[in-house]
Amino acid sequence: MQSGVGCQLAIIASSNSTSGPKHDTETTLQFQKLLAAVIFIVSSLLCVPTVCCAYDYATILWKGTRQELTGRTLVEAQDGGIVFESRDRKIWAAEPNNVLSLKRNGDAAFEPFDRREITAALLADLPAGFQIFDTDHYIIAHNTSLAYAQWCGALYERLHKAFTNFWQHRGLTLHETPPLVAVVFQDRQSFEAYGKEELGDAVKAVIGFYSLHTNRITTYDLTGVDQARGNSRALGTPRKINQALLANPEAERTVATVIHEATHQLVFNSGMQQRFADIPVWLSEGLAIYFETPDLGRSRGWATIGAKNQVRLGQMKRYTQNRPAHSLKSLIVDNARFRDTRTAETAYAEAWSLCYFLRKQSPKQFDQYMRLLQKKPTAVEDSPHQRLDEFEATFGSLDEIEPRFMKMISNLR
Ligand SMILES: [Zn+2]
Repeated sequence: MQSGVGCQLAIIASSNSTSGPKHDTETTLQFQKLLAAVIFIVSSLLCVPTVCCAYDYATILWKGTRQELTGRTLVEAQDGGIVFESRDRKIWAAEPNNVLSLKRNGDAAFEPFDRREITAALLADLPAGFQIFDTDHYIIAHNTSLAYAQWCGALYERLHKAFTNFWQHRGLTLHETPPLVAVVFQDRQSFEAYGKEELGDAVKAVIGFYSLHTNRITTYDLTGVDQARGNSRALGTPRKINQALLANPEAERTVATVIHEATHQLVFNSGMQQRFADIPVWLSEGLAIYFETPDLGRSRGWATIGAKNQVRLGQMKRYTQNRPAHSLKSLIVDNARFRDTRTAETAYAEAWSLCYFLRKQSPKQFDQYMRLLQKKPTAVEDSPHQRLDEFEATFGSLDEIEPRFMKMISNLR
């Protein structure tokens, strides 16, 4: 096992792009490698608690620093490595040699921090000067203007409502989300300084990211206006922020990024999927793109789920001119195409296209597939064979799907 699972979902920024969101950086589950070749003992996640708040305690080395954790053990590998969730909802993966101690308390009842405690832990993690703007479902820590934080909060709340309605209407059982954390930096420089710890140099290429480790979404003031005006209160209302954002040529990418990362966060906090479960990347990313598609004709920049994504469609159409015969299979059975910068763009385009196609033509099967993924436990890896089997058992054989899929793509305008 390795420590420091760098699993975050992040969007590549492009300084010269005005054409919509770029693909994510490494989104694949690195833990697959680090947890491979050991037999897992999945903890008693589903046990009914009998004792309130008897926690597990772990001491680990995390990036060279000693961490004393209180929470629950999600996975204890035979070699001594662990995956541990602390009460602030961070998930820590540690190799055996980084596990200094683990004290388990049997059927420990896990009670995560409440909103007040999460807020305190959050502020302790951030540089000085952050303030909190609370909405119904979000804790927004910001050092931007209040208006910008309000604008972000309104966008997140619209997504939260739309996301919940969308899946509940499709019979997927979700649970109430815990308070969701969003961090908004006032400028790119401080965002990069903060994001570097998790993303390394890749932070230079992103404008926002969701971290599976911290469970937070992080971005910065994408208008740049507050910064340019010395954080003045010139854009004093969310409405003016919105006008400024949507007038910007980068608006589409900006809104899409915020929605995309927030969608990842919702998926992992609504009971739809477990963090660090082996969810195929084509599905994770295809779905986030399915939700992100901005609607700049609307006054608020985003309102529609499942609209055609012209940027991804264009990329997909170009890809079909030289698309290998096994393309669908390679997309489904492993995540390699998403990791390689040379193939990532077409992988994201095909992932969106496949989600769009399946939602249009096989909606019931898609919902069934979502219920299957909902049951995937933390840190248990599926074989490529199993992935393909599950896909084909739900949607039909790839040989049968391929011509219908290609027909739809060529007909879309
Ligand atoms: Zn993503």
